[in-house]
Amino acid sequence: MVKFVDVENMARWIQRDGVENIITGMVEYLESDYRRWEKFDKTPRLASHTPFGVIELMPTSDGQEYGFKFVNGHPSNPARGYQTVTAFGFLADVDNGYPTFEAEMTLLTALRTAATSCMVARKLARPDSKKLALVGAGSQSEFQALGFRGTMGIEDVTIYDVDSAAIEKFRRNMEPLGFRITVCDTVEQAVEGADIITTCTADKAQNQILSDNLVKPGVHLNAVGGDCPGKTELESAILDRSKVFVEFPEQTRIEGEIQQKSPDFPVTEFWEVLTGAKPGRESDEDITLFDSVGFAINDFSALRYVRDAMKGSELETEIDLIANPDDPKDLFSLVAEVPSPV
Ligand code: NAD
Repeated sequence: MVKFVDVENMARWIQRDGVENIITGMVEYLESDYRRWEKFDKTPRLASHTPFGVIELMPTSDGQEYGFKFVNGHPSNPARGYQTVTAFGFLADVDNGYPTFEAEMTLLTALRTAATSCMVARKLARPDSKKLALVGAGSQSEFQALGFRGTMGIEDVTIYDVDSAAIEKFRRNMEPLGFRITVCDTVEQAVEGADIITTCTADKAQNQILSDNLVKPGVHLNAVGGDCPGKTELESAILDRSKVFVEFPEQTRIEGEIQQKSPDFPVTEFWEVLTGAKPGRESDEDITLFDSVGFAINDFSALRYVRDAMKGSELETEIDLIANPDDPKDLFSLVAEVPSPV
């Protein structure tokens, strides 16, 4: 039997424990996996592109467990009533290769993306950061805001989106939770005076959501939406003025903001900042840029976290996914018809 967490139970868990607590706990799992980065199998995710969007498989293993996520990215989906991003994922035991745990990962991806943003910002943003600018008020946005409050105490959020209904949805969801929200009519307004800027828009295009002149010294950029070939959010000149940090360079050079640059454009792998092998922010004037694309280890950590958090609770069910006959050589026994009595 494979332990299983469906959408309903994932939502119940999030309501019970709270987004901020969960993201804070998930950051610890992420950090512990990033500290043992070299133990993991790593490969850029396998992407299948069509004119509609992309479907990706994201595998990794630490030598004891194997994990993968199935995820799609379809920026035109919301206009048709579907989510831009949906996902599910598995953990398996490498000892016998059997899956051990399956979970919905649409909600979990929003949590893990926010947790990854927060893990990185805690290390790279100025410690006195107080104001978050969010550009893009879609599915990820509330989780990003709650993550930054849970992990960095940020309660002042400015928000901009081309879709005023999305902004209103964000305000409606977040204001009752005690955030001070400033709704903005332009990106310029939103990022003015921000310590951390998160861009989290969905559009299959090389956009300039943020132009170079809007990025002031000292800011931390959390660029989340540029995560696919031909899909970027930042004016290229911003990268020249920033210290750029990435998850796994081989994947980010294909999918991230740095796809706009030459293959030897200098970047720092974040795990090396975490372990102290490489410097992060070195002055209050540095512009630090997390070129987030979402890497398989992030999902592995998120799956481990949910699995451990739900162990033995009523939120975890089981599915019969693996055909497992008593005689391992007699798979046919499961389908052999019982002879009818004569
Ligand atoms: P979503 O479709 O729910 O929301 C995207 C929002 O961006 C929409 O409200 C849309 O109106 C807005 N937008 C589009 N163009 C804009 C522009 N020019 N200026 C301002 N706003 C604009 O999508 P989502 O689930 O919130 O995901 C957002 C993005 O993040 C997607 O591109 C997705 O692929 C990406 N993503 C990245 C990671 C990661 O790990 N880096 C993880 C999850 C999602």
